[in-house]
Amino acid sequence: QPHSSADTRLKERAAAVVPGGMWGHQRAAAVPRGFPQFFAGGDGARVRDVDGRDYIDFMCSWGPIILGHRHPAVDEAVRRQFQAGDCLDGPTEHLVVLAEMLVETIPHAAWAMFQKNGADAMTTCVTIARAATGKRKVLAAAGAYHGAVPWCSPSLVGVTAEDRAHVVNYTYNDVESLTAAAAEAGDDLAAIVVSAFRHDISRTQELPSREFAAAARALCDRAGAALVLDDVRAGFRLDLGGSWERVGVRPDLAGYSKAIANGQPLAAVTGGEAFREAAAKVFVTGSFWYGGAPMAAAVATLTELHRVNAPERLEAAGRRFAAGLTEQASRHGFDLEISGPPAMPMVLFKDDAERLLGEAFCQEALARGVYLNHRHNMFLSLAHTDAVIDEALEATDAAFAALAVKTRD
Ligand code: PMP
Repeated sequence: QPHSSADTRLKERAAAVVPGGMWGHQRAAAVPRGFPQFFAGGDGARVRDVDGRDYIDFMCSWGPIILGHRHPAVDEAVRRQFQAGDCLDGPTEHLVVLAEMLVETIPHAAWAMFQKNGADAMTTCVTIARAATGKRKVLAAAGAYHGAVPWCSPSLVGVTAEDRAHVVNYTYNDVESLTAAAAEAGDDLAAIVVSAFRHDISRTQELPSREFAAAARALCDRAGAALVLDDVRAGFRLDLGGSWERVGVRPDLAGYSKAIANGQPLAAVTGGEAFREAAAKVFVTGSFWYGGAPMAAAVATLTELHRVNAPERLEAAGRRFAAGLTEQASRHGFDLEISGPPAMPMVLFKDDAERLLGEAFCQEALARGVYLNHRHNMFLSLAHTDAVIDEALEATDAAFAALAVKTRD
């Protein structure tokens, strides 16, 4: 019985004082039915819900956790800055140290600026691109997520046509549609925004083709526009130098958040020399954008990611997980499609347009102590050791077996 008393009581209380019970991607509709909404803690590769149940966590807080929950070196850095004071009259020295680290690590980066959320970072990129070019049009892939703000929100509720007036859509990995969108923007093109790879909700993931990446770069160069990489979700998981290093194309501006500080609230924008002057002129800020502890956390996180060569290890962990799931699915008579980079797998059942089979599988896995998602890509962390993955696979094997019984009677 997935319904839990403490969780149910909190959901009921939330329904009275929170519109719709919960908002955004945490709305009940986004997670499999019966999943816990409220959590009490996490440790390594595990999270604990408010009813004290532990799960092996393959969502990693929807991306931020890359070293594992409560990583000792990160937590120590946070604790130290919190003890000294976090929110002060200005930033701490961690800001400069972190900017230096990013400039050192990311080949296109000549400078860095910091924000709180991925949406802040992406909006800052667009603002800088418009300031630098004096142009208005921004190309963004249809169905791509860049944040819950009017210029790019996936929902049009409460958004005006004017908010979207200068956004032109193209199809990811489709050079022809990108070229057509650039032609539509004409001599008013400020930026082409690209996701690290195609990771739209509930859809087979696609890595960028070299041809698509090169075309985006060439169109920007021709128009004097900014190539803006949204590395918010994939950043530091695929390549510490930026996710498009893998296709040999460097952006002019890039946005990061999620994994940058292993769960502490922080986002970043990096940019090339040509965009430094515009970046210095735009007015972008927030009361909490300068806090010391999240930046200390980011320095500790990046140090650890370099030390252990994180992308290689995350890929190996993802491959082990995917190989196990694929073998189990076929043994139990299911047709599974696992797409995208192994470190960020989307696990879908074939012929499951409504994702009901996927949802039922997640429910069976949850009942056996494994937290999955049926519509959003999942995330591996460095806490997903071989032993942890094998333990999770034991549970998913039983989950597939239970699903086979359920779907066949
Ligand atoms: N871009 C991408 C690719 C994302 O995955 C997200 C968050 N899911 C965002 C931007 C927005 O980040 P945030 O939720 O921190 O505003």
